Amino acid sequence: METEGNSIAEKAKDVYKRMSRTAMKAGRNPGDVALIAVTKTIDIGRIAEAIDAGLRIFGESRVQEAQRKISEFGMLSAKCGIKWHLIGHLQKNKVKQAVQFFDLIHSLDSVGLAEEISKQAERIGKVQDVLVEVKLSGEQSKHGVSKEGFFELLRSSGSLKNLHITGLMTIPPYFDNPEDAGPYFRELRALRDKAQVNGFNLPELSMGMSHDFEVAIEEGATMVRIGAAIFGERK
Ligand SMILES: *Cc1c(COP(=O)(O)O)cnc(C)c1O
Repeated sequence: METEGNSIAEKAKDVYKRMSRTAMKAGRNPGDVALIAVTKTIDIGRIAEAIDAGLRIFGESRVQEAQRKISEFGMLSAKCGIKWHLIGHLQKNKVKQAVQFFDLIHSLDSVGLAEEISKQAERIGKVQDVLVEVKLSGEQSKHGVSKEGFFELLRSSGSLKNLHITGLMTIPPYFDNPEDAGPYFRELRALRDKAQVNGFNLPELSMGMSHDFEVAIEEGATMVRIGAAIFGERK
Protein backbone atom coordinates (compact mmCIF):
# COMPACT_ATOMS: atom_id res chain seq x y z
CA MET A 1 0.00 0.00 0.00
CA GLU A 2 1.31 3.45 -0.90
CA THR A 3 1.45 6.03 1.82
CA GLU A 4 -0.66 8.84 0.49
CA GLY A 5 -0.79 12.39 1.78
CA ASN A 6 -3.88 14.51 1.48
CA SER A 7 -2.57 17.67 -0.10
CA ILE A 8 -2.09 18.06 -3.83
CA ALA A 9 1.64 18.50 -3.20
CA GLU A 10 1.87 15.21 -1.31
CA LYS A 11 -0.18 13.33 -3.87
CA ALA A 12 1.85 14.73 -6.77
CA LYS A 13 5.05 13.77 -4.98
CA ASP A 14 3.73 10.26 -4.50
CA VAL A 15 2.82 10.00 -8.21
CA TYR A 16 6.30 11.22 -9.20
CA LYS A 17 7.86 8.65 -6.89
CA ARG A 18 5.82 5.83 -8.42
CA MET A 19 6.64 7.09 -11.93
CA SER A 20 10.39 7.14 -11.38
CA ARG A 21 10.44 3.83 -9.52
CA THR A 22 8.58 2.19 -12.42
CA ALA A 23 10.78 3.84 -15.06
CA MET A 24 13.96 2.70 -13.34
CA LYS A 25 12.63 -0.83 -12.90
CA ALA A 26 11.95 -0.88 -16.65
CA GLY A 27 15.48 0.35 -17.38
CA ARG A 28 14.25 3.77 -18.46
CA ASN A 29 15.31 7.28 -17.51
CA PRO A 30 12.62 8.81 -15.22
CA GLY A 31 13.25 12.14 -16.93
CA ASP A 32 11.89 10.69 -20.16
CA VAL A 33 8.35 10.45 -18.80
CA ALA A 34 6.36 13.67 -18.43
CA LEU A 35 3.52 14.08 -15.97
CA ILE A 36 0.45 15.84 -17.33
CA ALA A 37 -1.82 16.88 -14.47
CA VAL A 38 -5.40 16.52 -15.69
CA THR A 39 -7.45 19.45 -14.40
CA LYS A 40 -10.84 18.97 -16.06
CA THR A 41 -13.54 19.98 -13.54
CA ILE A 42 -10.81 21.16 -11.13
CA ASP A 43 -11.16 24.78 -10.06
CA ILE A 44 -8.60 27.58 -10.39
CA GLY A 45 -7.66 27.55 -6.71
CA ARG A 46 -6.62 23.93 -6.78
CA ILE A 47 -4.75 24.38 -10.06
CA ALA A 48 -2.85 27.22 -8.37
CA GLU A 49 -2.00 24.78 -5.56
CA ALA A 50 -0.70 22.34 -8.15
CA ILE A 51 1.48 25.06 -9.67
CA ASP A 52 2.85 25.83 -6.20
CA ALA A 53 3.58 22.12 -5.84
CA GLY A 54 5.77 22.34 -8.94
CA LEU A 55 3.47 20.88 -11.59
CA ARG A 56 3.92 22.57 -14.96
CA ILE A 57 1.92 20.67 -17.61
CA PHE A 58 -1.86 20.66 -17.39
CA GLY A 59 -4.35 18.66 -19.43
CA GLU A 60 -7.89 19.83 -20.13
CA SER A 61 -10.68 18.00 -21.95
CA ARG A 62 -12.82 20.87 -23.17
CA VAL A 63 -11.74 23.91 -25.11
CA GLN A 64 -14.15 26.35 -23.46
CA GLU A 65 -13.41 25.28 -19.90
CA ALA A 66 -9.69 25.44 -20.61
CA GLN A 67 -9.94 28.85 -22.26
CA ARG A 68 -11.62 30.28 -19.18
CA LYS A 69 -8.99 28.85 -16.83
CA ILE A 70 -5.99 29.67 -18.99
CA SER A 71 -7.04 33.29 -19.36
CA GLU A 72 -7.38 33.56 -15.56
CA PHE A 73 -3.75 32.61 -15.17
CA GLY A 74 -2.83 35.01 -17.96
CA MET A 75 0.82 36.00 -17.99
CA LEU A 76 1.61 33.72 -15.07
CA SER A 77 1.39 30.76 -17.44
CA ALA A 78 4.18 32.08 -19.62
CA LYS A 79 6.27 33.36 -16.73
CA CYS A 80 6.27 30.01 -14.93
CA GLY A 81 6.70 27.99 -18.12
CA ILE A 82 3.30 26.38 -17.76
CA LYS A 83 2.07 24.27 -20.67
CA TRP A 84 -1.54 23.44 -21.47
CA HIS A 85 -2.50 20.31 -23.36
CA LEU A 86 -5.86 19.43 -24.90
CA ILE A 87 -6.53 15.78 -24.11
CA GLY A 88 -10.23 15.61 -25.04
CA HIS A 89 -11.97 15.31 -28.39
CA LEU A 90 -11.65 18.39 -30.60
CA GLN A 91 -14.47 19.62 -32.81
CA LYS A 92 -13.66 21.54 -35.96
CA ASN A 93 -15.54 24.63 -34.82
CA LYS A 94 -13.31 24.87 -31.72
CA VAL A 95 -10.00 24.62 -33.55
CA LYS A 96 -9.58 28.37 -33.90
CA GLN A 97 -9.57 28.79 -30.10
CA ALA A 98 -7.66 25.59 -29.46
CA VAL A 99 -4.60 26.60 -31.48
CA GLN A 100 -4.37 29.84 -29.51
CA PHE A 101 -4.13 28.20 -26.12
CA PHE A 102 -2.73 24.70 -26.36
CA ASP A 103 0.91 23.71 -26.62
CA LEU A 104 -0.05 20.18 -27.58
CA ILE A 105 -3.30 18.67 -28.88
CA HIS A 106 -3.53 14.93 -28.07
CA SER A 107 -6.65 14.20 -30.08
CA LEU A 108 -6.06 14.51 -33.82
CA ASP A 109 -8.34 11.89 -35.34
CA SER A 110 -9.20 12.85 -38.93
CA VAL A 111 -7.71 14.36 -42.07
CA GLY A 112 -10.32 17.13 -42.00
CA LEU A 113 -9.33 18.09 -38.48
CA ALA A 114 -5.64 18.05 -39.44
CA GLU A 115 -6.36 20.46 -42.29
CA GLU A 116 -8.36 22.78 -40.05
CA ILE A 117 -5.68 22.80 -37.33
CA SER A 118 -2.99 23.64 -39.87
CA LYS A 119 -5.13 26.37 -41.41
CA GLN A 120 -5.96 28.04 -38.10
CA ALA A 121 -2.38 27.69 -36.85
CA GLU A 122 -1.12 29.37 -40.00
CA ARG A 123 -3.42 32.34 -39.37
CA ILE A 124 -1.62 33.04 -36.10
CA GLY A 125 1.84 32.14 -37.35
CA LYS A 126 2.19 28.97 -35.31
CA VAL A 127 3.18 25.39 -35.99
CA GLN A 128 0.80 23.34 -33.84
CA ASP A 129 2.18 20.23 -32.17
CA VAL A 130 -0.29 17.35 -32.13
CA LEU A 131 -0.57 13.67 -31.29
CA VAL A 132 -2.70 11.25 -33.26
CA GLU A 133 -5.32 9.58 -31.08
CA VAL A 134 -5.56 5.93 -32.02
CA LYS A 135 -8.50 3.76 -31.05
CA LEU A 136 -7.30 0.24 -30.40
CA SER A 137 -10.50 -1.11 -28.82
CA GLY A 138 -13.91 -1.53 -30.42
CA GLU A 139 -15.62 0.73 -27.89
CA GLN A 140 -18.28 2.91 -29.53
CA SER A 141 -17.85 5.68 -27.00
CA LYS A 142 -14.19 6.29 -27.80
CA HIS A 143 -12.71 8.66 -30.36
CA GLY A 144 -9.60 8.08 -32.42
CA VAL A 145 -8.49 6.66 -35.75
CA SER A 146 -8.12 2.97 -36.49
CA LYS A 147 -4.68 1.50 -37.10
CA GLU A 148 -5.27 1.71 -40.86
CA GLY A 149 -6.60 5.23 -40.53
CA PHE A 150 -3.47 6.19 -38.65
CA PHE A 151 -1.17 5.57 -41.63
CA GLU A 152 -3.62 7.23 -43.97
CA LEU A 153 -3.65 10.26 -41.69
CA LEU A 154 0.16 10.41 -41.55
CA ARG A 155 0.41 10.28 -45.32
CA SER A 156 -2.22 12.89 -46.04
CA SER A 157 -1.04 15.31 -43.33
CA GLY A 158 2.53 15.32 -44.59
CA SER A 159 2.00 18.43 -46.70
CA LEU A 160 0.36 20.49 -43.95
CA LYS A 161 2.98 23.08 -43.07
CA ASN A 162 1.53 24.30 -39.78
CA LEU A 163 0.86 20.91 -38.27
CA HIS A 164 3.58 18.94 -36.51
CA ILE A 165 2.70 15.38 -35.50
CA THR A 166 5.00 14.36 -32.66
CA GLY A 167 3.50 11.07 -31.50
CA LEU A 168 0.51 8.94 -30.59
CA MET A 169 -2.10 8.83 -27.86
CA THR A 170 -4.52 6.13 -26.79
CA ILE A 171 -7.12 5.42 -24.11
CA PRO A 172 -7.53 1.69 -23.49
CA PRO A 173 -10.75 0.29 -22.03
CA TYR A 174 -11.00 0.34 -18.24
CA PHE A 175 -9.86 -2.88 -16.59
CA ASP A 176 -10.08 -3.70 -12.88
CA ASN A 177 -6.63 -5.20 -13.26
CA PRO A 178 -4.45 -2.49 -14.86
CA GLU A 179 -2.08 -5.15 -16.21
CA ASP A 180 -4.84 -6.02 -18.70
CA ALA A 181 -4.26 -2.65 -20.39
CA GLY A 182 -0.67 -3.70 -21.18
CA PRO A 183 -1.42 -5.19 -24.63
CA TYR A 184 -3.07 -1.90 -25.73
CA PHE A 185 -0.04 0.14 -24.67
CA ARG A 186 2.28 -2.34 -26.36
CA GLU A 187 0.23 -2.10 -29.53
CA LEU A 188 0.49 1.70 -29.57
CA ARG A 189 4.24 1.47 -29.21
CA ALA A 190 4.44 -1.12 -32.01
CA LEU A 191 2.43 1.22 -34.23
CA ARG A 192 4.85 4.04 -33.42
CA ASP A 193 7.82 1.80 -34.24
CA LYS A 194 6.24 0.79 -37.52
CA ALA A 195 5.73 4.43 -38.43
CA GLN A 196 9.37 5.16 -37.57
CA VAL A 197 10.49 2.42 -39.96
CA ASN A 198 8.40 4.17 -42.62
CA GLY A 199 10.20 7.44 -42.07
CA PHE A 200 7.89 9.21 -39.60
CA ASN A 201 9.62 10.51 -36.49
CA LEU A 202 7.07 10.14 -33.69
CA PRO A 203 8.83 9.99 -30.33
CA GLU A 204 5.88 10.72 -28.04
CA LEU A 205 3.56 8.11 -26.56
CA SER A 206 0.77 9.63 -24.45
CA MET A 207 -0.67 6.70 -22.53
CA GLY A 208 -1.56 5.84 -18.95
CA MET A 209 -4.00 7.39 -16.46
CA SER A 210 -4.33 7.25 -12.67
CA HIS A 211 -5.10 3.55 -12.42
CA ASP A 212 -2.77 2.21 -15.12
CA PHE A 213 0.14 4.65 -15.56
CA GLU A 214 2.71 2.27 -14.15
CA VAL A 215 1.82 -0.35 -16.77
CA ALA A 216 1.99 2.35 -19.46
CA ILE A 217 5.46 3.45 -18.34
CA GLU A 218 6.66 -0.16 -18.46
CA GLU A 219 5.43 -0.24 -22.06
CA GLY A 220 7.16 2.97 -23.10
CA ALA A 221 4.89 5.93 -22.26
CA THR A 222 6.63 9.30 -22.59
CA MET A 223 3.62 11.18 -21.14
CA VAL A 224 1.12 10.04 -18.56
CA ARG A 225 -2.17 11.89 -18.04
CA ILE A 226 -3.14 11.86 -14.38
CA GLY A 227 -6.13 13.46 -12.70
CA ALA A 228 -7.65 11.53 -9.80
CA ALA A 229 -4.37 10.38 -8.27
CA ILE A 230 -3.38 14.04 -7.82
CA PHE A 231 -6.67 15.88 -7.28
CA GLY A 232 -8.85 13.11 -5.85
CA GLU A 233 -11.84 11.44 -7.49
CA ARG A 234 -13.95 13.76 -9.66
CA LYS A 235 -17.65 14.07 -8.77
C1 LIG B 1 -9.89 12.40 -17.46
C2 LIG B 1 -8.81 11.94 -18.36
C3 LIG B 1 -7.59 11.50 -17.84
C4 LIG B 1 -7.28 11.39 -16.37
O1 LIG B 1 -7.99 10.37 -15.77
P1 LIG B 1 -7.74 9.99 -14.24
O2 LIG B 1 -8.35 8.65 -14.09
O3 LIG B 1 -8.41 11.03 -13.42
O4 LIG B 1 -6.27 9.97 -14.02
C5 LIG B 1 -6.61 11.13 -18.76
N1 LIG B 1 -6.81 11.17 -20.09
C6 LIG B 1 -7.97 11.60 -20.61
C7 LIG B 1 -8.13 11.63 -22.09
C8 LIG B 1 -9.01 11.99 -19.77
O5 LIG B 1 -10.17 12.40 -20.30
